[in-house]
Amino acid sequence: MMAKLGDWIDPQPQGIYVKPADAWIDPSVPSPRALITHGHADHARGGHAAVWATSETLAIMATRYGPQAGHPVRYGETMRLGEVDVTFVPAGHVLGSAQILLEHRGERVVVSGDYKRRPDPTCAPFEPVACDVFVTEATFGLPVFRHPDTGDEIDKLLAALHANPERCVLVGAYALGKAQRVIAELRARGHAAPIYLHGALQRLCDLYTELGVELGALLPATGVPKAAIAGHIVLCPPSALNDRWSRRLPDPITAMASGWMRIRQRAVQRNVELPLILSDHADWHELTDTLTEIAPQEVWVTHGREEALVHWCMTRQIKARALALVGYEDEDD
Ligand SMILES: [Zn+2]
Ligand SMILES: [Zn+2]
Repeated sequence: MMAKLGDWIDPQPQGIYVKPADAWIDPSVPSPRALITHGHADHARGGHAAVWATSETLAIMATRYGPQAGHPVRYGETMRLGEVDVTFVPAGHVLGSAQILLEHRGERVVVSGDYKRRPDPTCAPFEPVACDVFVTEATFGLPVFRHPDTGDEIDKLLAALHANPERCVLVGAYALGKAQRVIAELRARGHAAPIYLHGALQRLCDLYTELGVELGALLPATGVPKAAIAGHIVLCPPSALNDRWSRRLPDPITAMASGWMRIRQRAVQRNVELPLILSDHADWHELTDTLTEIAPQEVWVTHGREEALVHWCMTRQIKARALALVGYEDEDD
């Protein structure tokens, strides 16, 4: 009897178990052997006995959880784990993010983690890899999600800043990836002025800089007189947008950089005056274009809006299933 395609991969609610490697991908509970796609907290948890990840992801994990029993993996280098050949490939999501190619029994399975297709000055671009089974996210897996041009969103931010020299623009941005990408995109647009940071963003911005991502002049926002911050951009985590902390700023224009800003209700909920639609995930068209390009025999959907993507696959004679993993939340992306 023919074995079922990919039946050596066992998706469980707490992560994807790769049986012949005796290893878990992005497990949500402490595990003996963990392969980690990227540093976001819903994928990279602390407490694993051994971790395989890119050196950037290991550095991010060390910043958040302390020293890791880490095995750094280079993009494109194949290693043997048990009876599986494992290769990490850039995912274009955040610094160090990887898709994981697993080869066993002549079958190729790619677990993409989270990914995007837009250029991002802070990380290596997504590389499509031919495979039999493509395991994909579907955070923005509905046709309504079409992310606008990145440069247009950054221009909106700069226009608001320049039109209001007596105010500041306070941008809520996820601490890992989004904050650094917003800064790098601003620099690419010629914005050379210092950018002020909420304390919660400092460590990861410092780490990106140490790892070679140029972010220009960054200053702590805390303890600076209001007048000095007028006419400048301030970045904070989304949770700080409306809290007491922001009251010390000069009449801030409240902005937020997130794919969810496509939904007006989300912007209203957070009192966001200037929604910036900037996502580190593929939008609907990029998800479906990626599946067309890779042309796998089967698509497995890890998390997000699974139904529409599974349906899209079925109508194109691609076998598809939703894995119902728990604990992955990309609310701030
Ligand atoms: Zn992520
Ligand atoms: Zn995720």
